[in-house]
Amino acid sequence: MEIRFWGTRGSIPSPGPQTLEFGGNTSCLEVILASGRRIVIDAGTGIRPLGEHLQTSVATVRFHLLLTHNHWDHLLGLPFFAPIYREDTEIMVDGWPLAFQALTRIFDDHMGDGFFPVAWDQLKASISFINRLARGPLLLDDVRIDAIPLNHPQGCLGFRFREMDHTMVFITDNELGLGDGHRFGDFVHFVRGCDLLIHDAQYLPEEIEDHRGWGHSTYEEAVSLALEGGVKRLILTHHDPNRSDAQVREIVVRARRQVAARQGALKLEAAREGDIYRLPEIIPLKKRSPAAAPRNRNQKIQEG
Ligand SMILES: [Zn+2]
Ligand SMILES: [Zn+2]
Repeated sequence: MEIRFWGTRGSIPSPGPQTLEFGGNTSCLEVILASGRRIVIDAGTGIRPLGEHLQTSVATVRFHLLLTHNHWDHLLGLPFFAPIYREDTEIMVDGWPLAFQALTRIFDDHMGDGFFPVAWDQLKASISFINRLARGPLLLDDVRIDAIPLNHPQGCLGFRFREMDHTMVFITDNELGLGDGHRFGDFVHFVRGCDLLIHDAQYLPEEIEDHRGWGHSTYEEAVSLALEGGVKRLILTHHDPNRSDAQVREIVVRARRQVAARQGALKLEAAREGDIYRLPEIIPLKKRSPAAAPRNRNQKIQEG
């Protein structure tokens, strides 16, 4: 399975010179299974450049779109996802049950009261709602996808992908430190032994008390979860919109110190737009410049 970050920012897009390295687009992750099937998680503003990429790289755009929840930083990119204006595009939506409804409301409903001047039923793509994941695992080719409810206002789902012996877990917008470790054990069970855990780390420990109940975690809490669960690699995501690149790098330094203090073997990075991970891991043979291609942190780069 190949995993590519198209949007790593939380709450609101944050373009500008302070966010060039880790990116300013909101939540969007592309997962390509070994079978070649494409799955996209969330439709934040990162889905716009993904759309541009797909227009030029595949003949027909067809994928499952898994929505974690309703909040607008996870939905607002869809009106600018160019393939939805093509008749040959097919999107099968699953995930948080109310999110599909919320997605349709971004568009106009012919009363002029949507957030975007095009009406939902004017979209040319075929967009259907599967509504499977909230009720049980979704099986696609050789991959099993499970969902877990997260600690987040108005609800949110995390997803676990298992392909052969490899597991990737995506948990955005989750408050691990809520109410004396509320459901912490459930999350440890869900992530146990996974190769790659992508987890919300919006806040610093010194910031969290002012943001309790907001539905987000500190990097310390995310690291604790990864260590408890025996995770192999942790990627911190949903960066706060006010966090500069230098401050995100500082979070990584502090988090690695925390791992070292507990003598853990956990590998750890911050999510960066354009980064690609592949399971199973392959050591990079060659790196292209960031301007020419997405950074390729742990995989063989395919030329051509
Ligand atoms: Zn969010
Ligand atoms: Zn949210």
